[in-house]
Amino acid sequence: MAYVVTDACIKCKYTDCVDVCPVDCFHEGPNFLAIDPEECIDCTLCVAECPVNAIYAEDDVPPGQEGFVALNAELSKLWPTITEKKDPLPDHEDWAAVEGKLQHLER
Ligand code: SF4
Ligand code: SF4
Repeated sequence: MAYVVTDACIKCKYTDCVDVCPVDCFHEGPNFLAIDPEECIDCTLCVAECPVNAIYAEDDVPPGQEGFVALNAELSKLWPTITEKKDPLPDHEDWAAVEGKLQHLER
């Protein structure tokens, strides 16, 4: 099993999660982070850090967001590792409560 970043992260990218990950398995895209399922050790530390509750265990991903499991696996291979927190995206407050943002995901 691994942990998975889901829809809520898109266009927010707060990055609070990356500081606590002991194995540096977060990877950064333009407006989303992805967890490498082959590196994640299921420590759960990142879950409580995310201000928009975007991170779930693979088996607990909310209904309708199952596609994010494969998406994290795919995108984490394409994007560079991020290990230090940075500022969220400038308009993160406008998007934090919006659901169904997959069409806005940039690669
Ligand atoms: S803390 Fe949450 S919103 Fe921020 S980058 Fe991590 S998963 Fe995305
Ligand atoms: S569960 Fe642990 S190892 Fe996996 S992404 Fe979160 S902090 Fe990293």
